[in-house]
Amino acid sequence: MKSKGVLLILSGFSGAGKGTLVKKLLDTYPEYSLSVSMTTRQPRDGEVDGVHYFFATPKQFEEKIEQDGFIEYAQYCENYYGTPMDYVEEKLSQGKNVILEIELQGALKVKEKYPEAVLVFVVTKSAAILKDRLVGRGTETMDIIEKRMKRAVEEAEYIEKYDYMVVNDDLNTCMEEIHSIIENCHRIPSNNEAFIAQMKEELKAISKGEK
Ligand code: 5GP
Repeated sequence: MKSKGVLLILSGFSGAGKGTLVKKLLDTYPEYSLSVSMTTRQPRDGEVDGVHYFFATPKQFEEKIEQDGFIEYAQYCENYYGTPMDYVEEKLSQGKNVILEIELQGALKVKEKYPEAVLVFVVTKSAAILKDRLVGRGTETMDIIEKRMKRAVEEAEYIEKYDYMVVNDDLNTCMEEIHSIIENCHRIPSNNEAFIAQMKEELKAISKGEK
């Protein structure tokens, strides 16, 4: 039987580089899958429906809530965001590590449902760097950037609830750090199932004096 994958929840301040980190993980290691969320926010330039998000109207989103189709959903800066359940369950059972790139409220809800999930919070080296990145990205108006900075102030209060925090200074280093967190938590029990089974057999045999 294939071992179940790890559910990796990646949160962090808007502008901390989560999206780039996720892309790098997916490009580097085949064992990861990204869960595509549903949102009611408008697509940004270049964003593709079904790839970056499933873009939905508030009505469509609310219908899916009623059908119990989300693992979690949350409102963030006036829009809905949610994680559809089917895809995550399917990929985990195929042994894939499923990445949820979601904000804090959602992350904490997922942890309640999936206590074995690994919560990683991505930060920048300083708050000034965060603001520079948000402005430099050029995808948001100043008004939205200010909302996201305020949200970062609130989110910073909850970092301690996460299992790990990583600093995204150098992209590759940070990506490898996340990967090694997942590798290490994967080792017990999933990757070592065969080893543990054999060890149990040997211990039994030795204790019975058969070896
Ligand atoms: P953005 O609008 O920049 O794409 O995303 C805004 C925030 O919503 C980010 O912090 C992102 O991680 C979060 N987000 C994206 N998808 C989901 C989701 O399915 N559920 C929750 N709770 N947050 C999400």
